[in-house]
Amino acid sequence: MKMASSKGTGTKGTGTKATLARCQNLFDDLQFTAARQWKAARAGRKVIGYMPIYVPREIIHAADMLPLGVLGGGDQLEVIHGDAYYQSYICRIPRSTVELGVSGRLDFVDGMLFPSICDVIRNLSGMWKLMFPDVYVRYFDLPQNFADDIGGIFYRNELADLRRDLGEIRGRPITDDELRASIEVYNENRKLVGELYDFRAETPWQAPAAEVYLVLRAGMVLPVEEHSALIGDYLAAARAEKRPMRDNCRIVLTSVFCEQPPLNLIKSLELAGCYVVDDDLLLVTRWLTEDVSAKGDPIGNLADAFLHHSVSTPAKYEPNQAEKGRYLVRAVKRTGAEGVIFAAPSFCDPALLDRPMLQNVLKKAGIPYIAFKYAENSGQMQPIREQAGTFADSIKLWSAA
Ligand code: SF4
Repeated sequence: MKMASSKGTGTKGTGTKATLARCQNLFDDLQFTAARQWKAARAGRKVIGYMPIYVPREIIHAADMLPLGVLGGGDQLEVIHGDAYYQSYICRIPRSTVELGVSGRLDFVDGMLFPSICDVIRNLSGMWKLMFPDVYVRYFDLPQNFADDIGGIFYRNELADLRRDLGEIRGRPITDDELRASIEVYNENRKLVGELYDFRAETPWQAPAAEVYLVLRAGMVLPVEEHSALIGDYLAAARAEKRPMRDNCRIVLTSVFCEQPPLNLIKSLELAGCYVVDDDLLLVTRWLTEDVSAKGDPIGNLADAFLHHSVSTPAKYEPNQAEKGRYLVRAVKRTGAEGVIFAAPSFCDPALLDRPMLQNVLKKAGIPYIAFKYAENSGQMQPIREQAGTFADSIKLWSAA
C-alpha cells in the first residue's frame, strides 16, 4: 500500500464514542490539520483538493497524493471576503470556498479539481486560476452522454489528461499497476461505506444519520486506508451497542449532494421523528455502485464504471425520460422508507430544477414527500423540526389508516 497504511484508528474497543469524537474534531477543523500533518510527514507529498460531487480519487491516490474533499465552510466560518466575489442570489458554497482560499486555510493544497456539476462550480474553477496562479487547477469535465463510443471516449480522455497532469506534478508518470492498486483500495472503501449504509437502513436507531455523516465526512480528509479502518471500527462498535428504538418513520433524504446541510439539520430530522435510511450526502464515497475491475485497462475500467455503474442525481443527465426519478422510488423500496425529504441548498439550480419532476414521479408512486431549502450556515432549525415532525406524524397516521 502506497499511502499511510492503516493500522486501525486507535479507537477500536472504545465504543462509538471515541471514533465519533475523532470524526467531530476532523469535521470542526477548518485548518485541515490532519491533511497538513499527512503532507508534512514526508517530503514531497502533495494534496489535491476536490469539490462535490465526484472526482476519480483513485487517480490522485495512484500518484501518491492525498485527495482532500473541500465542501465549503459549514456554519462555523464567517464569510468576509468570499461575499465580494459573488452576487447575493447564489448558493453559499462558492463564497465560503473562496473564503477558505483567501484566508490561507487551503495554502497547503497543491491542486484543486472542480468537477462539472453546475455553472457556479465551473466559474469558480476560472476564478481559482486567477486567484491562485501557482496552484494546479482543473475543471474536471464529466460526460453527459453515456454511449461508450461518444461519452466514453470523451471521459477516457479526461481521465488520461488528469493522470498525465498528476504524473507530471509528481515527476513520474502514474503506471497502470499503481492505478489498479488504487482501484482496489477504493473498492474496499466503497464496500465498507455500503455496509454502513445497509446497517443504518436495517437498524437506523443503531447508527443515527448524524453519526453516519460524521464517519463519512472523515473520509474527506483522511487517507482512504485510514478511513476504511475507521468505518470498520465504527461499524463494529455500533453493532455491539444497544440503543433504544424509537417510533420514528423512515425517510430518504435527497438533494443534499453539493452544499452540505448543517450537522444540526441532520440531527433535527431524527429528533423530529424521521430516521434517515438513505441519502445523497457525500456522494463521492458512493458514486460508483459496483466494484471497479482491477484487471486490464484501469482508465477504461474507471470510465466504464462511471458510464454504466454510477448513481443517479439531478446533477447528472438522465437520457431516458422513463427512468427520470425512478432511483428515488427504488431507494424507498430498497430501504423500506415511508417518505422522501427534499432538502436543497438555496439557489441550487440542479436540485431545484429537477425537484418538480422528481416529485411527480413520487406522486405517481404514492410516496409522500416534503421539501425545504437550507444554507450551510442555516442556524434556525425550529421551522425544519416542525415541518419534519408534522411529516412524520402524518405518515404514521396514513400508514395506520
Ligand atoms: S449548491 Fe447547487 S448551485 Fe451551488 S455549487 Fe452546488 S450544485 Fe452548484
